[in-house]
Amino acid sequence: MSKRDYYEVLGVSKSASKDEIKKAYRKLSKQYHPDLNKEAGADEKFKEIAEAYEVLSDDSKRAQYDQFGHEGPNQGFGGGGFGGAGFGGFEDIFSSFFGGGGRRSDPNAPRKGDDLQYRMNISFEDAVFGKQTEIEIPKDETCDTCSGSGAKPGTSPKTCSTCNGSGQINQTVDTPFGRMVNRRTCSTCRGTGKIIVEKCSTCHGAGTVQKRKKIKVTIPAGVDDGQQLRVSGQGEPGINGGPAGDLYIVFNVKNHEYFERDGDDIYYELKLTFPQAALGDEIEVPTIHGKVKLKIPAGTQSGAQFRIKDKGVKNVHGYGTGHQYVIVKVVTPTKLTEKQKQLLRDFAEISGDIPEEHGSSLFDKIKKTLKGE
Ligand SMILES: [Zn+2]
Ligand SMILES: [Zn+2]
Repeated sequence: MSKRDYYEVLGVSKSASKDEIKKAYRKLSKQYHPDLNKEAGADEKFKEIAEAYEVLSDDSKRAQYDQFGHEGPNQGFGGGGFGGAGFGGFEDIFSSFFGGGGRRSDPNAPRKGDDLQYRMNISFEDAVFGKQTEIEIPKDETCDTCSGSGAKPGTSPKTCSTCNGSGQINQTVDTPFGRMVNRRTCSTCRGTGKIIVEKCSTCHGAGTVQKRKKIKVTIPAGVDDGQQLRVSGQGEPGINGGPAGDLYIVFNVKNHEYFERDGDDIYYELKLTFPQAALGDEIEVPTIHGKVKLKIPAGTQSGAQFRIKDKGVKNVHGYGTGHQYVIVKVVTPTKLTEKQKQLLRDFAEISGDIPEEHGSSLFDKIKKTLKGE
């Protein structure tokens, strides 16, 4: 059997730091230590991990390995020094391109399941105050009948004889430049390395069944539109005994009838009549936390802004509470009775500060408009 890439053995990237390599080694050696792990193959795995660590933890051995791979000029490590064998021609160059240097994935290695995303529509109030709720999502679950193996209970999948369980097939092709090693996914087992002889009748060999699953979700108080929540372990089931993926819930917060949110602050447009704005008033203003009394000073202009402290949204990460901003809009009346009109004319007449324009007073203009001129 051909050797696995050392980086792959430790599950680290080619650019991994010494620290990352050390951490990966500690974790894996504990997992496969023959004293702790009685599974078949744990011993080989442990030796493989130790060998990979021996090379990758040593700067000069690692550099040599990076350059030459397993089939380096030394014919493996520990031989001491460069033997001066050098490259043997095209064959070695090609095999280091297509063979030894490439990363191979072990089809039997435990893999984390896929993450899932779920978009959840929530009301403005639920986003502000949070809520315990439940969602139902279609989800692949590990088949109970076969515990995910896909094989009929009492039977077990056989190692694929085409690829000997590696999931891949190496094909050597002679070319004018030398021999090339081609690697392709085994078509017999579709890369899984296993053949299911008798399929599980519940999942028909898939190892998973689709179910609608209810999941409890706590909408965090203060969550905003577009923010997401990770529900750990509620994604797709893991492969070969690996951990399940995670579920990401993305919140779509619905618009409110009259509140608008900006971060942790809430905006509210307050309509005032001209007399209210001119004379001042004390009115009740709705906030998401209930009604609050607000004093409108005399002479308030359209566009004026008032702050009602701490009546916004409590920050989702606990950084204080936002405010509610009240923006005034003075509404001009559109339907006036004859009496109201007369009062406004009188008002205009006695107001000394009516702006003059083109020699005629506003009052004159109003008169003209009323007469249809
Ligand atoms: Zn196969
Ligand atoms: Zn099954």
